[in-house]
Amino acid sequence: MQKRPFGATGLNTSILGFGGFHLLEIPASEAKWLLDRYLDAGGNYIETAAAYGDGESERKIGLAVAGRRNEFILTTKSGERSAQGFEANLARSLANLKTDHVDLVLMHAVGSGAELDLILGPGGAMEAAVRAKKEGRVRHIGISMHGQPDVLIRAMKEYPFEAVMTTINYYDHFNFPEIQDALVPLAREKNAAVILMKPVGDGLLWRSAPAAFRYAFSQPVSIVVAGINNREMLEADLRFAEDFTPMSESEIEALYSKAPELGNYVCRQCGACLVCPEKIPLTDIFRLEGWFDRQMADGTVTNASDWALKERLRFWFGNRDLASARYAELAVKGDACTECGKCNPTCPYGIDVRRKLSLADYKLAGRGIY
Ligand code: SF4
Ligand code: SF4
Repeated sequence: MQKRPFGATGLNTSILGFGGFHLLEIPASEAKWLLDRYLDAGGNYIETAAAYGDGESERKIGLAVAGRRNEFILTTKSGERSAQGFEANLARSLANLKTDHVDLVLMHAVGSGAELDLILGPGGAMEAAVRAKKEGRVRHIGISMHGQPDVLIRAMKEYPFEAVMTTINYYDHFNFPEIQDALVPLAREKNAAVILMKPVGDGLLWRSAPAAFRYAFSQPVSIVVAGINNREMLEADLRFAEDFTPMSESEIEALYSKAPELGNYVCRQCGACLVCPEKIPLTDIFRLEGWFDRQMADGTVTNASDWALKERLRFWFGNRDLASARYAELAVKGDACTECGKCNPTCPYGIDVRRKLSLADYKLAGRGIY
């Protein structure tokens, strides 16, 4: 399996990483089979978190592969924000994982500036992490968050994190464009490793897994981490990694244009509809809709299982409230629409712009009906 430099750490990681969250869903014996197979196939990066099953994912990994500890790079995460909490969390993680050190610890799911202030401030988690690094219990320190990247961008500017973990896939590309436009270039400029998570959009892109993985591996990232909980999925993911060839710009554009999950609802942010006589900022509003629910509620139920999946996957980590707050600050909102219809024929992706605006306004303004 191809390997890439992991930022400036001196480590080289296989392009496919094993995400440990979904080990919660399977017995320890099956977790061992999967982890052994992944390592035998050339994978060398296993990731978990103290919070996954309150340590259960870590314990399963420790039971399965502690005897092969020198064959892989091991990452865990801590959601603690204080030095004391982080220290206790790390001690438990090392015991769970049956090891004396992790290669990387990530400050887990840092979703607000206030949390970042706690981590970096006096008595914060970073104090304990730096101490653990000096003692060799942690080799490198990074940070993670799902969805919109404001806090991660600020974090990368304020502290020399060695790795950053973020959501990237061809669906969320349009929900959180700043990840690829701003966060990834900033991380690369600072020589930090970029860890890509959610290559198949929490499962939304399951129909298109070969394209979704090829897109993910084509990004300027160190590694693509995929949650794995069965043999068929592992074998497919290994095959995608082994067969990987980078996508060309035209192949990526074709995917953005034709991917079934984007269809005629997800706004590609092209700006062609900005002809509104009322100066309604359509692209901004649709971007906020992406934060709000990842543009998953499109007002139709054509396929019950698809609808149920989307219901499960929308509303993430406080992004809904943030989107509503930003929408409230807009000088011109969806309720300024006179339904003149000028925007509709302009969309190259066949989006019913006027209807989409009505839905976005309903969501973001918390209206009772659309
Ligand atoms: S239909 Fe509404 S959003 Fe579209 S151009 Fe007319 S006023 Fe603007
Ligand atoms: S024309 Fe369509 S894709 Fe382009 S910004 Fe408007 S709604 Fe989005």
